[in-house]
Amino acid sequence: MPSDAAAIIRELQKAGFEAYIVGGCVRDSLLKKKPSDWDITTSATPEQVKSLFSVTIDTGIKHGTVTVLKNHVGYEVTTFRVDGTYSDGRHPDKVEFTPSLIEDLKRRDFTINAMAYNDKVGLVDKFGGERDLHKGIIRCVGDPMERFSEDALRMMRAVRFSAQLGFFVDEDTYTAIRKLCANIKKVSAERIAKEFTKLVNSAHPELMQIMYNMELTNYIIPEINPLFAGDANHWHRILAVMSSIEDKDEKRKFDKRAAFLFYDFGGQTASRVLKRLKYDNDTINYVSRLTDLLKRPFESSETEMRRTMNIAGDLMPVLDTIRLNLVLINEGELEVKDIADCQLMYKKIVKRGDAVSISQLKINGDDLMELGIPKGKMIGDTLKYLLDEVIAHPYLNNKQQLSKLALKYKEEVNEKL
Ligand code: ATP
Ligand code: MG
Repeated sequence: MPSDAAAIIRELQKAGFEAYIVGGCVRDSLLKKKPSDWDITTSATPEQVKSLFSVTIDTGIKHGTVTVLKNHVGYEVTTFRVDGTYSDGRHPDKVEFTPSLIEDLKRRDFTINAMAYNDKVGLVDKFGGERDLHKGIIRCVGDPMERFSEDALRMMRAVRFSAQLGFFVDEDTYTAIRKLCANIKKVSAERIAKEFTKLVNSAHPELMQIMYNMELTNYIIPEINPLFAGDANHWHRILAVMSSIEDKDEKRKFDKRAAFLFYDFGGQTASRVLKRLKYDNDTINYVSRLTDLLKRPFESSETEMRRTMNIAGDLMPVLDTIRLNLVLINEGELEVKDIADCQLMYKKIVKRGDAVSISQLKINGDDLMELGIPKGKMIGDTLKYLLDEVIAHPYLNNKQQLSKLALKYKEEVNEKL
């Protein structure tokens, strides 16, 4: 435990309260993984917590959470609480504070997330969390039917934790999800998307297949059902490729993995799904463009490669590196050599500096106007025409040749009118 978290706990204990680290950080510590944050649970009320520490932020006073700042790190300190009834399947109608740690642990979703620890008491594990960690099992605290009826998001969380940890979902927990999966419709797209992102970026995204077996996909992404309903070898390969893709940038990792998930369905489907899940526009564009680029046939000439480079734009280096994975997906049909040839061609073109976009043409809109080409749409059309010619014949990219071509194009257009 970081010394600052230990100090907060000691401070609370000195004032006569109970305090423990709890939830994800206890789970991750027991797994010898580095926790993403350290949450503290205490018998002190938010007001009492605030009076004990010099720098605090009211993060979620209504739910009992105060953030205590120590050396620029925030520790969420939450009062022991019980969640009241859930009439909407999403949030508790009201939360109530309780003096009992065990009551607080009882409201938590899974046994592995329902453990607390401090140096004085040691591990508090009332629901077999440590046993389930060793067995590799995601199991609800209490009756799964009840727990998923309270909060339907927990069904997505079960799949997400299973994929992050490589754990199985316990049979009763699994069966309850299968029965209640339609309730996921009550949960907001944003909350689902957050779990979906973690699932896709997890160590075992291949476990998302259980979402299909549970019939959860029907209510979130029915578009990918045909993948799992089809050839098992094929979806195994797609998911294996997804799990092999890494990127230091979590967002880009998601984008690249998602492009393979939607590989069979195309960019339009990717865009529809991600829009419905309320992903941001950058993600929607990136994934749908990359999905379509993966579908492009391999280039068999430099001209074709320059066309692909023109369409891919900033995504070309990404396409160039992740394309190799297509060999695995299309076993027998594609050869590593096909891709290696493309990669060589691409390198050569970049090195030579062939123009693949309008901005690389040795002529611009002003030059064209000087040649007497009318302002407006005609300038854009001419530049596109010139780029097309240059993509096919790179040696044409000089001002003199392009001026000649531009005038020829103008004549052709005039003749047609
Ligand atoms: P992560 O590493 O992804 O943050 P975490 O376990 O810390 O994992 P959080 O979503 O940060 O997950 O939640 C912190 C803790 O709060 C959980 O460990 C769990 O005890 C409890 N919790 C969170 N969401 C729910 C929920 N929907 N229902 C019940 N308990 C929950
Ligand atoms: Mg957390």
